[in-house]
Amino acid sequence: MPTKTLRRTLQLAGLEVPVVELTGAQDGPRLTVLAGVHGCEYAPMAAVRRWVRALAGRDLRGRVVAVPVLNLPAFRARSPFVVPDDGKNLNRCFPGDPDGSLAERLAHAAFTQLITGSDALVDAHAGDLVEALEPFALYDAGPAEARARELAIAYGLGYVIRQEPGPDRAVGGTSSAAAASIGIPAIIAEAGGCGLVQQAAVDAHIRGLDRLLARLGMAPGAAESTAPERPPAHLRRFLWLRSDDAGWWEPGRRTGRDGSRGPGPRDGQQHRRGGRPADRHRARGGRPHVRDELPRGGGGRPAARPGRGLRPLPFMRTRR
Ligand SMILES: [Zn+2]
Repeated sequence: MPTKTLRRTLQLAGLEVPVVELTGAQDGPRLTVLAGVHGCEYAPMAAVRRWVRALAGRDLRGRVVAVPVLNLPAFRARSPFVVPDDGKNLNRCFPGDPDGSLAERLAHAAFTQLITGSDALVDAHAGDLVEALEPFALYDAGPAEARARELAIAYGLGYVIRQEPGPDRAVGGTSSAAAASIGIPAIIAEAGGCGLVQQAAVDAHIRGLDRLLARLGMAPGAAESTAPERPPAHLRRFLWLRSDDAGWWEPGRRTGRDGSRGPGPRDGQQHRRGGRPADRHRARGGRPHVRDELPRGGGGRPAARPGRGLRPLPFMRTRR
């Protein structure tokens, strides 16, 4: 019996959110896959759409419930990071509040109607409209963390971050933390960014979802190994970089007189900057990394708050 595909919309906080449900011929786990929790993260949205189309022609054990774009108001308004109606970051609102603002109600509806009852959750992200990042997967401490860790590794991205509740946790209120709190193994997988549909990022998500399916025993006869080609680096926390000045960073490159590109930054080497410099910060690690910041405007606008515009790469350090 082939896999059955049902395309429908789900009423979530008054929104008609498109959902694709794939039911295999054999019983098995239920995997929930979300994308578009942030409205301009196009690579994972494209990946989930392509992945479910491919999955329809394959054997499946169990059930996949996939949402290519959850945050419809942000998607439609092309609003990075936040739901435009209330200015809140949906991925800081889980498990949500049925009596709250739109982001809180949407989080609550997604938590109760999509996440609860799942055997595993993947929330696929990228850098948002103005955000570049190194691909990574994140999972949360909790009763299901051993399984969540397996899934995070199986997804096959370069870095795996474990987050613990407490004051050190940089990003709370996430889908994965809410799932972890009720014992569901969950990961947030990040690849892509900058408002683009990069083929490499789409491929990384599709590969990751396929590996996860195999890891969960939902892909009968799948030849694909779930072992990543290279083991990921394991990290324990985010470190947030702050800037006192408006501006942006470019990855430091030494440029020759003939305009040729030199090697990237070395350990401890200061990044080259554009705009007004954020001159007290240095990054080290020597890995290719690009990030952006929301500038603090001259008109007394507050600096970007955690979870809105600033998302540091996990391996960056601040030196003063
Ligand atoms: Zn995101």
